Parts: sequence; C-alpha cells; structure tokens
Amino acid sequence: MSHHDLFDLSGRTALVTGSSRGIGRALALGLTECGATVAVHGTKASKALDETLAAARKLSPQSCAVIGDLGSSAAATKVVTDAIAALGKLDILIANASMQIRKPWASVTQDEAEQQMQVNFHATLRMIHAAAPGMQARKWGRILTIGSVQQARPHPDMIVYAASKAAQENMVRNLAKQLGPDSITVNNLAPGVILTDRNTEVLADETYAERVRQIIPLRSFGESTDCVGAALLLCSDAGRYITGVDLLVDGGMGLP
Ligand code: NAP
Repeated sequence: MSHHDLFDLSGRTALVTGSSRGIGRALALGLTECGATVAVHGTKASKALDETLAAARKLSPQSCAVIGDLGSSAAATKVVTDAIAALGKLDILIANASMQIRKPWASVTQDEAEQQMQVNFHATLRMIHAAAPGMQARKWGRILTIGSVQQARPHPDMIVYAASKAAQENMVRNLAKQLGPDSITVNNLAPGVILTDRNTEVLADETYAERVRQIIPLRSFGESTDCVGAALLLCSDAGRYITGVDLLVDGGMGLP
C-alpha cells in the first residue's frame, strides 16, 4: 500500500452530524475528496444543507442528506438509521454537531443544562449504539467525536458545554477499549478557536479577539479546513493503529 492509499476512502460511507455548516461541512467534504460517500446532516432542511450536499455530490454522487434535531435520543438514533438506509452501511461516524449556551454559570437553568448534555453527550452515545453493530459485523469502523479545547480548559461562561465535551472524551477512551477487538477505532478531535458561525459575534469585538489570540501559542484562530487533516488521519487506514486519543487542533491553546 503506498502512503497515498493510506488515506483512500473509496467504498467507505460516512455520516457527519452538523455538516450543513462550519467544521462538519469541511470534514464531510474532506471525506468525499478521499473517495467516501457521505451523509451530510443538519437540524432541518436548509439552504446551507442543500449547498453542502451539492458540494459533496460533485465528488461523490451517491451522497445524501439526513435531518434531525439531536435534542431527542429518538432523533439521534433515527439520524443514524436513516443514513444507513440511504448509504447501505455506515463505516465512519463523525459526531460533530453540538449545542453551546454561553452565560454565567449561576444563571444556567436545568433545562439549558439538560439540552446541552443531550445534544453533546447522550445523542453521541445513542448514535454509537446505532452505528457500532454494523461496524462490528464488518470488522472495520471509525468513530470520531468532535470535542473541544474546553475539555481541559473550560470557559467560565460555558460550564455545561465544557463538561459535556469532557464527558464525551471520557466515553471515547472507554469505547476505544471495548470496540478495539472488532477493529473499530474511537477517537476525539478537539478544536480550539475555529472561525465558524457560532463565534462570529463574540470575535467581532476586536479587544476580546486579541485577548484570546494572546493565549494561543500560534497567535491566530483556525479555519474549519484546519480540522480536516487530523480527521482524515483518524478516519482512514492511515490511523488504523490509533485509538482512544484526544487530538487537539488548537494552535497550542490547550497547553498548560
Ligand atoms: P456551527 O458552525 O455552529 O454549526 C453547527 C452545526 O451543528 C450545524 O450543522 C447545525 O445544524 C448543527 N446543530 C446545531 N444544533 C444541533 C442540534 N440540536 N441537533 C442537530 N444538529 C445541530 O458549529 P462549528 O463551530 O463548526 O462546531 C462543530 C463542532 O466543533 C462542535 O461540536 C463544536 O462544539 C466543536 N468546536 C467548535 C469550536 C469553534 O471554535 N468553532 C471550538 C471547539 C469545538 P443547522 O445548520 O441545521 O443549524
């Protein structure tokens, strides 16, 4: 196998949640560039989701879209079963969608806490429940969760979001041991500050943006495409012997 073939995903199928926009979109398109057929996903039908699907189909005509709000576990399971129905099988699951509520910890309501845990943790476990059996039967699988630099460096105004990402990363290490015997790798990719819709508003404040840049050793924010290389490593044969890792794509922001 040449080194180039190590990243070849021809014949592989993937679901990337939250891929209508941002990092998920970049990951889904990165997978199609390596030959995979993808199911792109958003909470609902949208222009953004249509555009992502059209871009994916340019390289991978059999790609499809699935929709569903991961705020319910039934919907999380259905997103995976819909993707399997459309693609025929699922080799790669990237749990990328997340919910983030920014506010001081003391004013976070029980409902806001539960919603974030649901989307960021419970839905991920439900989706793995639905995706793993097929991977186990075929003895090949890649599960990649998208975490955050906040697993280790929690932002004071995102107490539940940060905790949900830490919980997800713990689950990854647990499942890496349990699914390894079936040649399924389970890893976490933890971005730092990546320029996407969710932080456009806060980073528009140049004084705040500069303060954040100063705690990033590489002194700049990342682009969604900066996450693609790491994801391709963990989702291809190039990463077949890597499991249970937490790979930071954060310009060094998570360093102690
Ligand atoms: P984004 O641009 O805000 O896009 C969010 C995506 O998730 C959209 O596709 C959205 O679908 C979907 N989504 C949101 N809520 C959902 C729900 N309840 N159910 C199902 N889908 C939902 O996100 P991003 O910034 O690229 O972040 C992607 C991942 O990276 C997330 O896990 C995030 O926590 C993580 N991350 C991001 C950063 C960063 O700086 N951007 C840093 C650390 C970690 P619709 O289009 O339908 O709304």
